[in-house]
Amino acid sequence: MHVQPRSSSIKGPAHMFTGDVWYDVLARAERPSRLRVNLVRFAPGARSAWHAHAVGQTLHVTEGLGRAQVRDHAIVELHPGDTVQTAPGEWHWHGAAPDHFMSHLAVWEAPADDETPEHEWGDHVTDEEYRGR
Ligand code: MN
Repeated sequence: MHVQPRSSSIKGPAHMFTGDVWYDVLARAERPSRLRVNLVRFAPGARSAWHAHAVGQTLHVTEGLGRAQVRDHAIVELHPGDTVQTAPGEWHWHGAAPDHFMSHLAVWEAPADDETPEHEWGDHVTDEEYRGR
């Protein structure tokens, strides 16, 4: 057994996020486990850039009001208790609503091999995309 004490929150880097985003790394397991768990907090209007996860991702909303979108699909509202799954390689973004904070757990796995990157990052979500136009 291993007890990992609380670690410092990390500011979401500007090339991956718009607005103020902070995350805590809750789990970053060593192989053979490939488990990754972050607690991510978005300020109102903050969101990820477009991205895709090699092995998919599960989000569980813990607080606030949020938004998410898969490429070429409508924006969906996220509420506390909602669990969202994105498929491997599916391009999407997630973030807070314009006037609410939003927190979610992000759970994913590293790819089975060491060569495949865990994520691919693309363009920022423009204000027009974020507003759903
Ligand atoms: Mn994601």
